[in-house]
Amino acid sequence: MTETATTDHVHFIDGQWQPSQDGAFVPAVSPANRKELGRVAQGDRVDARTAVAAARRGHEALAKMSRWDLARACNRVADEIEKRRDILATTLAQEQGKPLMGEAYGEVDAAALGYREAGELFKWMAGEVIPVETPGKRAISYRAPRGVYGVITPWNFPVNIPVEYLAPCLAAGNAVVWVPAPSTSLCAARLMECIVEADLPAGAVNLVHGPGPVVGDEVVGHAGVDGIGFTGSPATGAAIAARGAGKPMLLELGGNGPVIVLDDADPVRAAEAAAAGSFFNAGQVCAATGRVLCARGVQEPFAEALLAAAQKVKIGDPMDPDTTMGPLNNPAVADKVEAHVADGLERGGVLLAGGHRMPDLGSDLFFAPTVIGDVPPGADLNAAETFGPVAPIVVLDSDDELIAAANAARHGLAASVFTRDLARAFRFGEAIQAGLVNINSPSSYWELHLPFGGAPGKDSGIGRLGGKHTLQAVTEIKTITFDIS
Ligand code: NDP
Repeated sequence: MTETATTDHVHFIDGQWQPSQDGAFVPAVSPANRKELGRVAQGDRVDARTAVAAARRGHEALAKMSRWDLARACNRVADEIEKRRDILATTLAQEQGKPLMGEAYGEVDAAALGYREAGELFKWMAGEVIPVETPGKRAISYRAPRGVYGVITPWNFPVNIPVEYLAPCLAAGNAVVWVPAPSTSLCAARLMECIVEADLPAGAVNLVHGPGPVVGDEVVGHAGVDGIGFTGSPATGAAIAARGAGKPMLLELGGNGPVIVLDDADPVRAAEAAAAGSFFNAGQVCAATGRVLCARGVQEPFAEALLAAAQKVKIGDPMDPDTTMGPLNNPAVADKVEAHVADGLERGGVLLAGGHRMPDLGSDLFFAPTVIGDVPPGADLNAAETFGPVAPIVVLDSDDELIAAANAARHGLAASVFTRDLARAFRFGEAIQAGLVNINSPSSYWELHLPFGGAPGKDSGIGRLGGKHTLQAVTEIKTITFDIS
């Protein structure tokens, strides 16, 4: 199978690279200098429907493959990702904006590992022989693929987040129609080139570029799609949940991760973790440190250490090996970060560092690493997801106040607690309404096999990603009974 051309990237449907049925293209633009990086096919509902029909045939072919065959296919994709490590990482840095050396290569390596782990884990996921009451009967159960998955993925980790769905779907024998975020379409095309090299049955994985509200919406609502995987905002997650009502869904909808610094914590260690959580990928991480909830008494040494960490951030061209933070990915997220900072300052927050764009660096999507002290609890910086390089500090008086503030947010994805006291660590770990609580590590610490998702009753999504949990989500238990009398 052939690769896409250098500058024009098209859909991959039914085992073929192909343009949109109406021939439309849109430019792909670098966030660092606003230069055009290439052109991407702009799909519509017809392209989406063609892909779903192909995926139905693709699933029939995948269903005939053994788990060993599927695991070998996963390994072939991983091999190809490793071979194309440079082009994948370069595209990530150029189109998404993350630093090449510090972050992009790491994301590519995680994607290769994700394929290997998914294939291996599903191979060994055994079913059950279930005891039954009736003499002469026997019963077994095992996990079977659901059929065709619609996978809609965002722009913040445009290689690895897709793999969190695509790899388990392939390992378990589900075909996929994948609709990636338009602002990182080239990254999707590069990943698809690796999948193509694994020589899967036609229709097993289909990539359709285009606007989410058009192509994504068609896929989610299509009767030929049996399950949905989506990572993005709560608003879009709610729209998808309504459109695809009744279908099994994995929804990962973002967070507003508090780092909670107790009065017995090492403030320097906590500040370094908060800086890592707030500035990695310019804060565009669902498990980012969206806010710091700091016990009164420790806020001064903590803020001092956080400022020192912020000053070490080297913001600039993502392709420069010395850069540790690039631009924000798109104008909408930059506008939101700016609005949240303005709101926090208007309500009495104290600007300690940054707080502004840095257009001299090449585009107005560069936003300075920002630290804001004395943020009032009601400010957007505390109450909503900022998704930018901002560490807002809220100071509170007691453990109960810290827990209440952590739980007051609508999000509940990832949190972190810094303390030297094991009993307090347990108390906070159990009381905080988040799917993941990291004690003495950044809110963003996670490994591919750990269960990850939103707490019940929050706006952070439903279901669990990670290792066997995604495999369980994209499969259904099949039971077969036998009469041997
Ligand atoms: P969205 O949730 O709007 O977009 C995520 C993806 O969903 C995009 O590919 C988008 O396409 C697509 N989409 C949009 N509407 C629909 C629909 N009706 N049906 C199917 N797919 C759809 O997030 P944004 O990119 O607008 O970012 C907004 C905010 O969301 C961020 O600032 C951040 O707070 C949060 N976010 C959280 C992420 C996370 O990791 N949890 C990831 C990304 C964003 P299109 O771009 O064409 O609309």
